[in-house]
Amino acid sequence: MLRGLSAALATAVRLLGASSCAVACALLCMGCARAPSPLMPFWDGSIGAPSHGVLRNGAELPMRGPGYQWLRQNDRHYALPRFVAAIERAAAKVARERPGAALTVGDLSAKTGGHVSSHASHRSGRDADLLLYVTTLEGTPVKTPDFLPFGPDGLAYDEQNHRFVRFDVEREWLLLKALLEDPEAHVEWMFVHHALEAMLVEWARARGESSDTILHAELVMWQPGPPAQPHDDHVHVRTACTPDEVTRGCDPNGPARDWLALPPPDAEPEPTNDELVAELLRPIETPRSAGEHPRTSGR
Ligand SMILES: [Zn+2]
Repeated sequence: MLRGLSAALATAVRLLGASSCAVACALLCMGCARAPSPLMPFWDGSIGAPSHGVLRNGAELPMRGPGYQWLRQNDRHYALPRFVAAIERAAAKVARERPGAALTVGDLSAKTGGHVSSHASHRSGRDADLLLYVTTLEGTPVKTPDFLPFGPDGLAYDEQNHRFVRFDVEREWLLLKALLEDPEAHVEWMFVHHALEAMLVEWARARGESSDTILHAELVMWQPGPPAQPHDDHVHVRTACTPDEVTRGCDPNGPARDWLALPPPDAEPEPTNDELVAELLRPIETPRSAGEHPRTSGR
């Protein structure tokens, strides 16, 4: 929170001319730091923390799209636009690679964020509950009817249809992999039960997936302790604040994920230390008139 606030305050001071009055105004505003304020007109997008924040100018995930649909019709499908787009891309990718099933999407955030009943977070447009892909016991993909708690055997009882269903590890891994590798998803956490995590990692290793992706998956997959419920019936995905979003009020309260700070593959390579030293030692070339001695000119 402090890093986000200090960055936002620094921007505030710049915008307001760095006068002592402006600094005082900015400091006074710390009391209302979790809500948009006329004193912080540049705050936008995800403001504050997932458990205390709000959302401005979020995007709504459409009711259905290629490879996904909402679980319920309500007004809780808003999030940061880049996060919404990443969920759409990931669901579409699973549908292309393994057709026949659709992701069921639970709650994201309300249109302007803030408290959402039955959730401790989901307030700042950075959280999404994604239900699990399921198949029949014979392996036919079926629509996930609701939150179904799966046991360590990968089975759950579907009371609506009076049958057991199986956790579709293959499609679930494809979804999580697509999100982890998406350049805009910036996955900070995937809250999921240990038993499901073990199945997913074992599946990924057996498929020979990239060791980087598996390592990232293992680092972000986590079952939060009480009072959080066991995440054995969905994966709760949280996106991290980008540096730009931090300057606009996003609270980077989670752990730093080194790989999220990496430049995109097509970015210019950073200069090496030797190149930086050579650049610093290079004489400054100044235009001079003919016959003028550099040490005496201008005196
Ligand atoms: Zn959740």
